[in-house]
Amino acid sequence: MEKSVIVVGAGLGGLSTALRLSSDGYRVMVVEKNNQAGGRLNLLQKDGFSWDLGPTFFSMSYEFRELMDYCGLEMPFRFVELDPLYAVHFADENKPRLIYKNLSLLANEFRDVEPDFELKMRRFLDETGRLFHDTEQVIIRRNFDSILQYALQLTRVPLKHAPKLFRTMWKELERHFTSFEVKVIFSLVGFFLGNTPFNTPAVFTLLSYTEMEHDGYYNVEGGMYKIVTTLMDELKKRGVQFAFDTEIVDYQADGKKITGLVDGEGKVWNADAYVINADAAWFRGAVLKRPAYSEAKLDKMNWTMAPLTIYLGIKGKLDDMYHHNYFLRKNFEEYAGGIFENKVSLDQPYYYVNIPSMHNPDYAPEGHESVFILCPVPDRRYKPSWDDAEEIADRIIDDFSERTGTNLRERIVSRTVFSPVEWESKFRLFRGSGLGLGHNLMQVGGLRPRNFDEYFRNVFYVGASTTPGTGLPMTVISSRLVTERINQAYGLVSENQH
Ligand SMILES: Cc1cc2nc3c(=O)[nH]c(=O)nc-3n(C[C@H](O)[C@H](O)[C@H](O)COP(=O)(O)OP(=O)(O)OC[C@H]3O[C@@H](n4cnc5c(N)ncnc54)[C@H](O)[C@@H]3O)c2cc1C
Repeated sequence: MEKSVIVVGAGLGGLSTALRLSSDGYRVMVVEKNNQAGGRLNLLQKDGFSWDLGPTFFSMSYEFRELMDYCGLEMPFRFVELDPLYAVHFADENKPRLIYKNLSLLANEFRDVEPDFELKMRRFLDETGRLFHDTEQVIIRRNFDSILQYALQLTRVPLKHAPKLFRTMWKELERHFTSFEVKVIFSLVGFFLGNTPFNTPAVFTLLSYTEMEHDGYYNVEGGMYKIVTTLMDELKKRGVQFAFDTEIVDYQADGKKITGLVDGEGKVWNADAYVINADAAWFRGAVLKRPAYSEAKLDKMNWTMAPLTIYLGIKGKLDDMYHHNYFLRKNFEEYAGGIFENKVSLDQPYYYVNIPSMHNPDYAPEGHESVFILCPVPDRRYKPSWDDAEEIADRIIDDFSERTGTNLRERIVSRTVFSPVEWESKFRLFRGSGLGLGHNLMQVGGLRPRNFDEYFRNVFYVGASTTPGTGLPMTVISSRLVTERINQAYGLVSENQH
């Protein structure tokens, strides 16, 4: 008999799971707190401008292809490969360093600071590439039923990679490069994982291989939200139902099964199985009331950075900018070591700037530009109040103006600021942590909150805070892993090609 599934949350994790499950013959309903789909992968529109709300690029584009193949679909959106991948502006340098995938072009960018760069980078990428291919199928794209199974699986990773578990990302970069600039730039990926390069294990240097060589970085033709609109079109064609403005706050259970999820208005939502796309750690604590995920316990876990995001519509065009741009300084160790615990001032911030209208002219009226600024800041454990968010935004805008030689404040025609308070309340992100749970060794693989519930047999999880981890491609992999679990539990695999 056809089984019914309720997916809680219409983020990328929820939508891609709904698509796979509908392909496999389940009846699917998606229940979402907000009034539009996408979760963090969302679109902000105001004053004639558009901005991608959160994600502005992704790597491992082939994970989207795998999703479409699984569901028997043609790719519904087009990738735009970024080249250069990004530009890095250091405060005391008069031109940005451009990060190309092509190693000889890249070597030119570091000729002044890193002798034999090309040779060193080649060795670094060969090493990180081997690490990536030795772990991808064995660890990243796999379900683990128990910690023991995870531990056994780890023994299948060649022993030569073991030192990278005990060394930091920064130390690993020091093994390969001498220049400060090169080490800083290729350690930036550490921030996406929840830590600084000074306490992120060196195993995660494999991300340098995914960005620089294996696949690169991509945007989407028509804007990142095309991913969501095209998935929604397909889901609706397949009869998947949606309930927006519906937040799950409680549950009803009978023994080891949840019989219904209760929304804020008291309405009960029933199905055979439930897939939770809300944060997997937060939901266990706030809705299922699990003591192991109480607020006090969650506070002690490792969480990724909180974002302060600024969405500007400006008159005129911005010259000499790239799709994405990092604005950094030379006090990297001091700044990175203190910023997340609110130990350094935001007077001289580090930030990221994306110009979405550069690839998608519809994002701004003729002769204007839409600008997105993301500043990684302390989460609400370390800085609970963000009443000063607008002032901090002013400082960032002034810094950006000074460094690009354009008075941006005079040109602003639209301005919106989201502090960690908005990120928390809008998407239920714990303390405003933007990418969900961090990825220290105690929070990855079989040690991350699992994608099946510890107690209820018909409850599963998908998304950034369960396995394998955060970011768009990982979320798509997560949807494959949870679908595998549900199919194992219900034995319902369709005549599909997989
Ligand atoms: C500022 C920012 C920039 C980022 N940039 C990038 C990037 O460039 N590239 C990249 O790969 N990744 C990026 N990320 C990370 C990426 O956005 C996430 O890893 C990914 O979108 C997570 O998807 P998800 O489906 O797990 O969660 P979400 O997108 O958070 O979806 C979960 C959904 O569940 C809903 N929900 C929560 N609780 C309930 C409830 N109780 N009842 C009903 N609904 C509920 C939420 O409203 C939300 O819609 C960025 C994140 C942020 C915040």
